[in-house]
Amino acid sequence: MDHPYIQERLLDIPATLTPQESALLAAHVAACPECRALKENLQNLERALQAQPMLAPSADFAQRWQQRWNLERQRAFRRQLLVTFIVCLGAAGLSLGLLLASLWPYLRSLELLLGIALYQAIAWGLALLRGLNLAGVALGNLIQWLPPSFWVLSMGILCQLAVLWVVWLRTLINPSQNRQRRLVIL
Ligand SMILES: [Zn+2]
Repeated sequence: MDHPYIQERLLDIPATLTPQESALLAAHVAACPECRALKENLQNLERALQAQPMLAPSADFAQRWQQRWNLERQRAFRRQLLVTFIVCLGAAGLSLGLLLASLWPYLRSLELLLGIALYQAIAWGLALLRGLNLAGVALGNLIQWLPPSFWVLSMGILCQLAVLWVVWLRTLINPSQNRQRRLVIL
């Protein structure tokens, strides 16, 4: 006799069984004390469960649930904000650090520094003009003309823009839609 199969069918809802399965089940249970005992135990359990009074949820259950969920959402948002802030700060710090590192030999003399600043400003202006004039030229040539500080700063700014974009997208997608879906479940 296939006890495991029969015992699995005993756990099914009777209405979902085919007539053949029901007949097989009845025949097996009548002949097998082990499966009969299991069936009786299941029936006793079901009766005991049905005899229990149904507990209604407390009146403010939904409200408390909603409050807790809002709190969780706010917490997640704050965490996200903090991470964004730290990443932005890190990117800005890195950009500044690289810029300072590239200027370090000149930082010891103020005049030299001013000279460098002037040179950088002119270099930027020239680079900008070249860039505008030769916008159609390949990127590989641009890399040679632009001062290194331009690339460092661009990298920093791009990092921050990317992070801001991701956060904006997430806040746009996240809160209200999920909230409505949860409310439907409630
Ligand atoms: Zn059996």
